[in-house]
Amino acid sequence: MQDLTDIHNYNANNTLLAGRNIVITGAGDGIGRAAALRFAQHGATVILLGKTVDKLAAVYDEIEAAGHPQPVMVELDLHTANNAEFEALNREIIDNLGGLHGLLNNAGILGEMKPLSQYDAETFDQVIKVNLTSCFNLTQALIPALESTENASIVFTSSSVGRKSRAYWGAYAVSKFAIEGLMQTWADELSDTCNIRVNSLNPGATQTNMRKQAFPGETPHNNPAPEAIMNSYLFLMGNDSIGVNGQQLNAQKK
Ligand code: NDP
Repeated sequence: MQDLTDIHNYNANNTLLAGRNIVITGAGDGIGRAAALRFAQHGATVILLGKTVDKLAAVYDEIEAAGHPQPVMVELDLHTANNAEFEALNREIIDNLGGLHGLLNNAGILGEMKPLSQYDAETFDQVIKVNLTSCFNLTQALIPALESTENASIVFTSSSVGRKSRAYWGAYAVSKFAIEGLMQTWADELSDTCNIRVNSLNPGATQTNMRKQAFPGETPHNNPAPEAIMNSYLFLMGNDSIGVNGQQLNAQKK
């Protein structure tokens, strides 16, 4: 098996994801956009889930223009989406695509950078809903589609403050700690009943809008672009990670 501290150097072959159907949340921007484009380039049919239809359409068009497998667009706001919508997606994936091989829970929001004593309660709820509860709801609803294929892979997106928290990271850090708990529980439960593997991935500092919001004074190009951190994402979505389960992984060298 691959050394899991070295997956940022993983070298994917061009057809790694051929014939695989993969849902990516927050696929219209940042890391999710880069993952959607790269997965499609390696042969996957990508299901682009997000809340801003213009951004999703731009990714859709880019994939189509490059001649990769035709993607699917799903406009959903994870703050307000309900279980009926998630279950309908599960049914459509089974009926129209024959099942699901991968789920990248990537969408997220930062919330406020403030001491907890001053943190707005409504924002706290919103961050927990988008970064945690919706990941639980969506993943739970998609389990039948994931179970209907061989060796499906679920990835939850963590953060360094989901492993060791720091002052002022508020609900965001709490949501990422909880994502690790969700990942571990699901990984342990599913290992008893099926071949779905479940892991978490910390992208590390990456040049995106969220990073700009968290570190407004930072020089953006000191961090890699999302396109530069995709090796670990490919590793986790392809068959070379079969047997890797319940792991907290990093997309960049620590
Ligand atoms: P961006 O802000 O660039 O992108 C976030 C994505 O999530 C966007 O596509 C956004 O859609 C989507 N999104 C936000 N809210 C919702 C919602 N309510 N419903 C559906 N989609 C939504 O962030 P990053 O690409 O940087 O972050 C991706 C993941 O990586 C997050 O989970 C983040 O916590 C994590 N991460 C990022 C790090 C970094 O340095 N960039 C470091 C550690 C972790 P829209 O554009 O339409 O709002």
